[in-house]
Parts: sequence; C-alpha cells; structure tokens
Amino acid sequence: MVTLALSKGRILEESIPLLERAGIVPEEDLTQTRRLIVGTSVPDIRLVVIRAADVPTYVRYGAADLGIAGKDVLLEDGGEGLYELADLGIAACRLMVASPAGGTGREGARAWTRLRVATKYVRITERYFASRGIQADIIHLYGSMELAPLVGLADRIVDLVSSGRTLAANGLEATDHVLDVSAWLVANPAAMKMKYEALRPVIASLAKERGK
Ligand code: ADP
Ligand code: MG
Repeated sequence: MVTLALSKGRILEESIPLLERAGIVPEEDLTQTRRLIVGTSVPDIRLVVIRAADVPTYVRYGAADLGIAGKDVLLEDGGEGLYELADLGIAACRLMVASPAGGTGREGARAWTRLRVATKYVRITERYFASRGIQADIIHLYGSMELAPLVGLADRIVDLVSSGRTLAANGLEATDHVLDVSAWLVANPAAMKMKYEALRPVIASLAKERGK
C-alpha cells in the first residue's frame, strides 16, 4: 500500500487534476467528502487529506510514504527527514512582505521601536529580516495576517500572495519578495528504500504531469 498525503485547500484543488492525469482517480470527491482516507482507482494507492502544515509530519514519521506540500510549508518546517523529489508546479504563488499602502503609519514614538511583523511563517521571516540586517519582532499568527496592520498589531505582514486582491481589499500592498512558492512532491526516505518498486511508478507519473 502506498499512502499519499495531500494538503487541504488550494493545493488539494490543484492536485486532483494532476492525480487524474497521472491515472490516480480518487474514489470520492475530495472537496466534498468528510472522509480523511480515500481510496483511488489504483488498488494499492490511498490518499489522506490533511492540513497543509501537517504534511511534512505525516511523511517524516512514515504515516504517509509520499506527500504534496507547498515550498512555504517545507521551508518553515525545515524539511529534515524528507526527500524533496519534484517541483509539481501547482499552487504557484509568492511569499511577500506587505504593508499599509502609502506608508506603515509608524509615527511618533512607534517609529523608535523595532519593526513588528505578523506572519504564519516565523522561521522564514526571521531569516529573511536577519539576512538583511533588519531588527524585527515576529508575531506568530495562524491566519488572517492582513488584519494585523489594520488594528495596530504589526507594521508589516509576511504572507502568500497570488492575485493581490486580499491585500488590496485591506488597504495593503506587497513591497518585497521573499520566496517563489509552488507545491512539491516529497517522500519518506525509509519508504524510498523499502517500497521503491511500489513508489517508483507513482513518482514517475506525478513528476511527468507536473506544471501542465
Ligand atoms: P491553510 O489555511 O491550511 O494554510 P491554504 O489552502 O491557505 O491552507 O494553504 C495551503 C497551501 O496552499 C499553502 O501552504 C501554499 O503552499 C498554497 N497556497 C496558499 N495560498 C495560495 C494562493 N493564493 N495561491 C496558490 N497557492 C496557495
Ligand atoms: Mg490560507
């Protein structure tokens, strides 16, 4: 049995057509079903559908042999104990620094304090600002980063941007590029040794359909 972990949300939507082109058709509509383990048209391949940030954990511990996860999640996780096999070219977006359009609003005393940056990506953001010699306090949020500058929680955010519509709707603009993001196929190293014969065709067919 080969278990492939898929990230819920944006990556799932774009993974389904990729899987189907690769001849792996889920037995249920993954966007509708409440089941977390779903069989496929290939008898020995099953899918587990989990939170994006949990994919590295499932694959690292071998609960899933393969996974599809965003480069953002892999970098934030650190990626230790995972093989990054192929850039699948799906769920493409950019990790950006954003701030209130027309200035950060750091007037008076606030301008003398360190920059405050709200993000879900604490490690990536720390590294990004440190590498530029900018002192920043990172505020860890789990979502809706766009809100933070509007209510004075942070001066900037670091978040994923594709169209920029969510930023614009909240009076923010992207100012600096941190990382190009897309979804990658990852594998558990032990499974690659023990189950290579079973994994090889799955990896080959997914990699072949990448970015189409
Ligand atoms: P969650 O809320 O659990 O983080 P999302 O669906 O928002 O779930 O994000 C899951 C993954 O999808 C992200 O880690 C990223 O790789 C990708 N992703 C998120 N937003 C976008 C987007 N706007 N365009 C393309 N890919 C995205
Ligand atoms: Mg999201």
